[in-house]
Amino acid sequence: MDKAYDPFENVVGVMEKAMEVGHINKQMFEIIKNPQRETKVYLPVEMDDGSVKVFEGWRVQHSNIRGPFKGGIRYHPDTNLSEVKALATWMSLKCAVANIPYGGAKGGIRVDVNTLSKRELKALTRRYTFAIAPIIGADVDIPAPDVNTNSQTMAWVLDTYSQLQGKPCPGVVTGKPVELGGSRGRNSATGRGVVLSTKFMLEEEGMKLDDVSVVIQGMGNVGSNAARIFFHRGAKVIAVSDISGGIFKAGGLDINEISDFLAGGNHLLKDYNVPGVKHITNEELLLLNCDVLVPAALEDTITAEVAKKIQCRYIVEAANGPTTAEADVILEQRRIPVLPDIFANSGGVIVSYFEWVQNIQELTWNREQVNEMLEKLMIRSYQELRDIREECHCSWRMAAYISALRKLIYAEEIKGIFP
Ligand code: GLU
Repeated sequence: MDKAYDPFENVVGVMEKAMEVGHINKQMFEIIKNPQRETKVYLPVEMDDGSVKVFEGWRVQHSNIRGPFKGGIRYHPDTNLSEVKALATWMSLKCAVANIPYGGAKGGIRVDVNTLSKRELKALTRRYTFAIAPIIGADVDIPAPDVNTNSQTMAWVLDTYSQLQGKPCPGVVTGKPVELGGSRGRNSATGRGVVLSTKFMLEEEGMKLDDVSVVIQGMGNVGSNAARIFFHRGAKVIAVSDISGGIFKAGGLDINEISDFLAGGNHLLKDYNVPGVKHITNEELLLLNCDVLVPAALEDTITAEVAKKIQCRYIVEAANGPTTAEADVILEQRRIPVLPDIFANSGGVIVSYFEWVQNIQELTWNREQVNEMLEKLMIRSYQELRDIREECHCSWRMAAYISALRKLIYAEEIKGIFP
């Protein structure tokens, strides 16, 4: 059994190890180790039945040393401060790996979205935006979607903030609808980045996407877009799962058909019944024999127990923090390479950056431009990680953390401490 998983403790532990492996001067690490600001808010909402409920929420601003705070807002019944702190820290590291001029932040509300009506969800989102309005802004802190939030949520955040400012403020959020200043390609960007990073790694090993079988855990925005793009690029997606369980077909699933099925109402995979497709549990899915396993759900999925039994050749982390530190050690011993979250899922925040650049310059780019620039930035960071792996003889995760920490620590050093 892994000891009780604490996401923030986990990320600090990995950073400490990377400081050693990368021979980084530790003087400024105390600053990077802790978030700059943690804001807790209580959010009253008048429910449809006339009762009043108060929800807990957070916005953790980890670092703005490399640029404005940046990161999504998560709605989940298990969200807590430690998780939001870890997610904010990963954002600072992710933006540094991607070489985009942002720091890191994350927001969260402890809520089960399935228990709210659309009106209640809108009221909660507006109240949360009102509560954090004094600490966000296009040049201060820019929220975006995360687990259980989407472009509709961002439209409400944008409108509430703009009403408070008395003017349209499109640059205050990214991941908004294209009609409100969102970027083409943002919705699928995280999934696209996952496929691109897999492609870079396979190419180095002399393989192509159409040589491999892929298993995807989680069919939210990231998992479903990754599944679709893997499928269109010729990979054999043999299993996918959602909260209701998984489906498996050794010869490869028809992802187009599954996407249509899921989009057509409140469908869950447990209701997808097609000859030749077998229903499996989420646990069985993680242990399938495959080339590439893509955890695309939540943290703490690949535990030590799972890592001992896993049968894939590579792991590509589409979720934030799916692998525990204990599991990482086992995977390294078993020589199963892991492309870490802060690189593999950076496509989302990279296209968020493009969206923000378009907003502040009042430009609109086409999808091809966006996708081309995404690939360019991701290749550049992939090459940086490869160089660090050679220099430090370390895992992909260590290389990504070293790459990020060197940039963050250098920025702290050159700026010095205020006052
Ligand atoms: N929530 C996404 C992430 O974890 C995107 C954040 C953003 O675009 O700011 O990377």
